Amino acid sequence: MTTTDELTGLYDRKGFLKLLSGQVKDANTYKTKLALLIVDINRFYRINNIYGYEAGDEILKKIALVLRNVIREQDYVARIGDNRFALILSGIMNVGHAELAAHKILRLLQAPFLFGDRKIYVDCTIGISLCPLHASNYMFLMKECESVLHGAKEKGRTIGISETLEDEEIPEDWDIELALDDALDKDQLQIHYQPKIALDSGGVVGVEALLRWNHPSRGFIPPNYFIPIAERMGHIKPITNWIFNTALRQGSEWTDKWGPLSIAVNIPPDFILMPDLKDLIANAMNLWGGDNVSPVLEIVERSLVLEPEKSFSILRELQEMGIGISIDDFGTGYSSLSYFEKLPVNELKIDQSFVTNVVGSPANQNIVKLIVDLAHAFDMEVVAEGVEDLGALQYLKKIKCDLAQGYYFAKPMPQEQIKDWLSNFAGLK
Ligand code: C2E
Ligand code: CA
Ligand code: CA
Repeated sequence: MTTTDELTGLYDRKGFLKLLSGQVKDANTYKTKLALLIVDINRFYRINNIYGYEAGDEILKKIALVLRNVIREQDYVARIGDNRFALILSGIMNVGHAELAAHKILRLLQAPFLFGDRKIYVDCTIGISLCPLHASNYMFLMKECESVLHGAKEKGRTIGISETLEDEEIPEDWDIELALDDALDKDQLQIHYQPKIALDSGGVVGVEALLRWNHPSRGFIPPNYFIPIAERMGHIKPITNWIFNTALRQGSEWTDKWGPLSIAVNIPPDFILMPDLKDLIANAMNLWGGDNVSPVLEIVERSLVLEPEKSFSILRELQEMGIGISIDDFGTGYSSLSYFEKLPVNELKIDQSFVTNVVGSPANQNIVKLIVDLAHAFDMEVVAEGVEDLGALQYLKKIKCDLAQGYYFAKPMPQEQIKDWLSNFAGLK
């Protein structure tokens, strides 16, 4: 019983399906993730027709070699059809990472293959599906991936990706919706502040403002829960305006004593395109901003995809007003490297899912280092959030990450407490 392809020495279709079935089962058992990529060489028959079968075979062998070299030790590659290859990439956390891998493969296969003194070009299409995001059964995963591949080919695209359902369903919670209506008026909202530490000097350079809601009967409600509801209901605009003003006002009280601080405020995705955004910000800065407080807006990548060019020019204007722009949760979204050069951004914030367990995960170490280097290549600062232990801190220092934030230094604290914390913090050793 052979499960390898004679020509390339890779797994054949049968062998691959068996492998995929096992990998998917493991992913389900151990709650890990994997990506399936199918690489289809377009119009391969042309090569056979023009250059002969010998050339065709030679090219297939070379493609197999390229794919074999591109994968990591824990990944698999197979030839599952005449001109079709498949890869299993394990531990892929999100669509963005699978897409990066696909781009790398496309780039490598773009270079001409030599056959005698001839240069032969191939072009290919790649389908991407993730387990369990798009399917948690191996046959469905395979079908799903073949179908997005087919769709991409029809549209003349090089990459096809399975569609992801809405990230999280926003809960229907009438209670909350009603109560949110006057949470602001009734003084139930509060801001907590979490310090950001510079890793070279060991000093505090700023704080992030994080919203807290003390519900009269349900007690403390996490922002991850009520902010999406507030966004849907249109309450987020007055709330964000309040946070921005309050954080600047409170921050400017401490900076008189502790010197310059940046104050970072989280900005919801559709805020950037709001026509009166600049006015709201300018007003708040006129009212509260002294020389010692510099506001930072933390935005998520999602804010930029709707209208990139327009968003970029708005961000540029904000920067000219002296506002720092930070990309929050960096690494979790689609970060198309093609627009990076144009990005008017001062800071990247590495998502905590990569940082918190960085010590135990070589994959996360790679990602964190990659983001640090990327930020520096584009003259941006980089913050690691979710630093919970000394090990993570030491790794971040080693790879020259600029700033860090996390429970290891301090949890988010109310205004009274952060004042004390600032005066007691002697700096990082
Ligand atoms: P985020 O902007 O990514 O904020 C970081 C979250 O990580 C905060 O949770 C913070 O308390 C938490 N955190 C900080 N250090 C550590 C650590 O070392 N370990 C762990 N496990 N967690 C840490 P929080 O305050 O519950 O906020 C959750 C999310 O809710 C925020 O994520 C942000 O997306 C949203 N949010 C919070 N405040 C606001 C706000 O004022 N406006 C808007 N639009 N969104 C907000
Ligand atoms: Ca944030
Ligand atoms: Ca974040």
